[in-house]
Amino acid sequence: MTSRLSRLAVALVATATATLGVTVANPAPASAAMTICYNTSQAGNYAGTANQAASIWNNATVNLTLSANCGSNLRIYQITGGGSYAVRTSLGNGRVYIDTQQAAQYSPLRIMTHEIGHILGLPDNYNGNCSLLMSGGSAGTSCTNPYPSSAEASRVSNLFAGTFSATDRSSQVFRDSWPNVLTPVG
Ligand SMILES: [Zn+2]
Repeated sequence: MTSRLSRLAVALVATATATLGVTVANPAPASAAMTICYNTSQAGNYAGTANQAASIWNNATVNLTLSANCGSNLRIYQITGGGSYAVRTSLGNGRVYIDTQQAAQYSPLRIMTHEIGHILGLPDNYNGNCSLLMSGGSAGTSCTNPYPSSAEASRVSNLFAGTFSATDRSSQVFRDSWPNVLTPVG
């Protein structure tokens, strides 16, 4: 009995191995995930924030991977004054500018993940809802949520799967996401 079972097991393993062999020989066409290399050499105090934001997006999405300093699809800059903003040159490519003055008022991580969201194809959605990332500064300085909603995350995943319109992948500048709430001096 034992030997019959053993022979059966050997036969099953052989069958499984043969099946695996066929699979390896004829792989289904894989949809390659896009690697977005981001560069923090000019991110100043916000290089670590950029890494945190990249992890958040990587954990929330599929079909794309943000990877540090392997190239320059996305450049992160620290600026002072003028407001934080994003310049998308195409889906997954562009520049993000973090204004130190705004980052002193709003959560720097929320600003960073929001601006990167524009690079990943998301528009602004100024509805004051803190559970959304793309509501930006409309949710107020007390909103520190740095996570995309499931709808925002799945939209990005779908965009990188090649769906949705060309508008989402177009070259566009996204400004004024973060209203200046500093009291004017003098
Ligand atoms: Zn924005």
